[in-house]
Amino acid sequence: MPDAFAELRHELAVANRILANEGIIDAFGHISVRNPKNPDRYFISRHRACELVEPSDILEMTLDSKPVVPTNVRLYSEMVIHGEIYKARPDVNSVCHHHAPAVLPFCATGVELVPLFHLGGTLGAKVPFWDSRDEFGDTNLLVRTPEEGASHARALGAHYMLLLRRHGASLAGKSLRECVFRSIYTTRNAELQLRAMAIGTLGPLSAGEVEKCGGHNLGARGVERAWEYWVTRLQKAEAMWAAAGLPRLRNLAAVGRPQTAGLAPTRRAAQREERARSRTGTKNRR
Ligand code: MN
Repeated sequence: MPDAFAELRHELAVANRILANEGIIDAFGHISVRNPKNPDRYFISRHRACELVEPSDILEMTLDSKPVVPTNVRLYSEMVIHGEIYKARPDVNSVCHHHAPAVLPFCATGVELVPLFHLGGTLGAKVPFWDSRDEFGDTNLLVRTPEEGASHARALGAHYMLLLRRHGASLAGKSLRECVFRSIYTTRNAELQLRAMAIGTLGPLSAGEVEKCGGHNLGARGVERAWEYWVTRLQKAEAMWAAAGLPRLRNLAAVGRPQTAGLAPTRRAAQREERARSRTGTKNRR
């Protein structure tokens, strides 16, 4: 039976590998995408490090984070992070959870993460802070129960990034690529903030700047340009894998080009397309 979601599984596998290649996720952490045909379902890898995820590892889950097709394979223990955000936020179509070294100092201290450069504007107006101890006391710090997941989603509220005390960060996006974009640039912002705090006083973006920068950077053009760049970097990294005799993701090049569907073409591209169309039309009439 053909898999109606083959392309989506492939794209999610690529997103997993990009986040590993860019140093956001190591052995732990995960990213998911909501099913575009059924908002009550989402896709996520089985229990596996992001860098190794294949399209065949991607499973479909209900919003209660149970596999749609019963399986014996091991699953991530923190899937409720994803399911409970999808329940609470119909506008969110992708969720990422990670423990990037640059954000951990903020999780350890409670120092607020603030937007410091234009691309940092993607962290939004505010990055709330969630401490599992407030409601659940001593735990192993993993977000595992539906109650913990729901509490975590409540803490995110209407925002796009949440810091988890003593743990890591969770991010939301309107699309998979937007979520990858935000996950990477908010981590870059955290790296910048650590350095900036060491040499001087922070001068964060104003609320108006955050809004304008976030809106501009997250436009399709910016996100697609960055996606093409990250896929190319991944291709270079995976070429080294291939040289080392390690299996690499098949057809990676198929998503190397940015998907510009839905974007208005430049005027010249539109004219070229028009000329090509009229040529074919003439040929067909002959
Ligand atoms: Mn975690």
